[in-house]
Amino acid sequence: MSKTISKNVLHFSHDNRVLGSFYGTDNGPTVVIFSGIHGNEKAGVHAAQLVIDKIKRDNVRFIGNLHIILGNINALNKGIRFEDKDLNRVWRNSDIDNLRNETTHKNLESREQKDIFLIIQEILKEPGPFYFLDLHTTSASSVPFITISDSLNNRKFSANFPIPVVLGIEEYLDGPLLTFINEYGHIALGFEGGAHHDESSIVSSEAFIWKALVHSKCVAASNIPGYLHYENVLKNLGCEYQFFEIKYRYQVSEKEHFEMLKGFENFEPISKNQTLALSDGVEIYAPDGGRIFMPLYQKLGEDGFFILNKISRFWLGASLTLRKLKINHVLRLIPGVKKDPDNNYTLIVDPRIARFMTKQIFHLFGYRQQILKDDKLHYIKRDRKLTEL
Ligand SMILES: [Zn+2]
Repeated sequence: MSKTISKNVLHFSHDNRVLGSFYGTDNGPTVVIFSGIHGNEKAGVHAAQLVIDKIKRDNVRFIGNLHIILGNINALNKGIRFEDKDLNRVWRNSDIDNLRNETTHKNLESREQKDIFLIIQEILKEPGPFYFLDLHTTSASSVPFITISDSLNNRKFSANFPIPVVLGIEEYLDGPLLTFINEYGHIALGFEGGAHHDESSIVSSEAFIWKALVHSKCVAASNIPGYLHYENVLKNLGCEYQFFEIKYRYQVSEKEHFEMLKGFENFEPISKNQTLALSDGVEIYAPDGGRIFMPLYQKLGEDGFFILNKISRFWLGASLTLRKLKINHVLRLIPGVKKDPDNNYTLIVDPRIARFMTKQIFHLFGYRQQILKDDKLHYIKRDRKLTEL
């Protein structure tokens, strides 16, 4: 049995949201680390603190800059995921417009969000390039993994970590922080370190931070005493750098009593028609085979479980080539597809006309489905030019 993280309540002040900032000597990259965006996920906060302690103790020298930022401080102090609103579901463009104009805070999370937004704006005045990393943990036990929006720069950076990468989760989440940051062209990786209370989640999160600092060239490996240890933490898990994509989500409805069957681990293979959970006491069967992902073992949440598909190397290569050719205008030749007149990165699809294979074709070209507006699907391009926040 692995060790669990101490249940001691953390105490943070809203005046100390930036846990640490470190500056280099050259115009290097800037790495920004968020931890505790969900207040019940403390492993990332502990890991960040370990990194800060080591930087100070060993006098680690920087090439670029590092900022470590706390997420939902109120929720962290209470040990809850969030109070009124999930701080990782409030970053839609309409939310940001409200935030810019807001004078009083609507709820406890909007105060947290405004603070974080202003800090991000300030950091983006640095020369860059920028690497945004968001540390989380899961309610099920899990090997560490990365989640990204499928842009080529995200793919390239995540290739430095020998763990699974899950693409396209943002199609199922409304308003996550990293998707918002991605839309301005910056690299943004979510890191899920393991189960919420498992001490190994701290170990893997700390290793992830050190590796990210080295691979972004923010810190030279030779300036980190004992770096090889961190390199080995993820390597020794025996996972592989491989891509997965979500093919199914079970959505829990408001009044439903959902109960996941015990013992599922993230990425565990499942077969079609296998019993996975109970809905108001009735068995739920897997509609398809694949790997189980994010089975819900906590009270809060509307995603019961996901089913993943492993993405082939052929598909990854093909999509890389297609995107480099920059021929995505051919998508507009598909009947029922047109460009959004207000947004260069968006294609509007009429699902009644463009049905056959549309989603797969769009994914190949680096588009992800975002919203259903007036019965039309909006597909949003993930590769972006850098723009100002
Ligand atoms: Zn989380």
